Amino acid sequence: MNIILFGAPGAGKGTQGELLAKRFDLVRLSTGDLLRDALRRGTPLGLEAKRFMDAGELVPDSVILGLVREVMAAESARGGFIFDGFPRTQAQAESLDATLDEMGTPLAMVIVLDVDDETIVARLSRRLACPRCGAVYNLDTDKPKTAGVCDVCVTGLVQRSDDEASTVRRRLEVYRAQTAPLLAYYESAGVPMHIIAGDRPVDEVQADLVRRIES
Ligand code: AMP
Repeated sequence: MNIILFGAPGAGKGTQGELLAKRFDLVRLSTGDLLRDALRRGTPLGLEAKRFMDAGELVPDSVILGLVREVMAAESARGGFIFDGFPRTQAQAESLDATLDEMGTPLAMVIVLDVDDETIVARLSRRLACPRCGAVYNLDTDKPKTAGVCDVCVTGLVQRSDDEASTVRRRLEVYRAQTAPLLAYYESAGVPMHIIAGDRPVDEVQADLVRRIES
């Protein structure tokens, strides 16, 4: 089973995607996480991606497609993928179609987490991340056990540089201009689509998602 999770930055794709991956034994493929991991390791690809990420712009398709192909080839034996933050452009969507065709595993559905812009800006201003292991926290809904310190690796938490309000606004513009049009693309391809209100507690959204997937 392959699922695409759509939604603006901060809509809850990472949190919900992780829970769904565990529940349905899927591989969560987050291109944002792959890029941040490359950046932490200081690879040339990570350093190249950084200037786009810091500006709230999309990283070029060629970079993203290389990363995604690698993970999909390595994990193809698993029960399927939950795509988080990918595809974000028409070229990425077409490439994903081709890869899934080759693998003989179609897309089961597209899920859209719907959250309004002001909630997103407010939510991301309260998000903290671990610069060492990538764990993510929220000061309202998912606080670290010790203020300012990662539960997993005891490193000082920071705000992601692209979670600053002006960059978030740019990321939202990019989402509307380049990614939201993909919904029409999948609709015309006849892929089942579920639009879920994402401005609710995590467990309520999760229960809603599980119900839709199981039905
Ligand atoms: P995310 O964690 O998914 O919000 O991604 C953070 C940043 O990584 C985005 O603002 C983009 O700069 C970059 N990025 C992540 N996924 C993609 C993608 N599929 N295509 C282009 N850029 C991406």
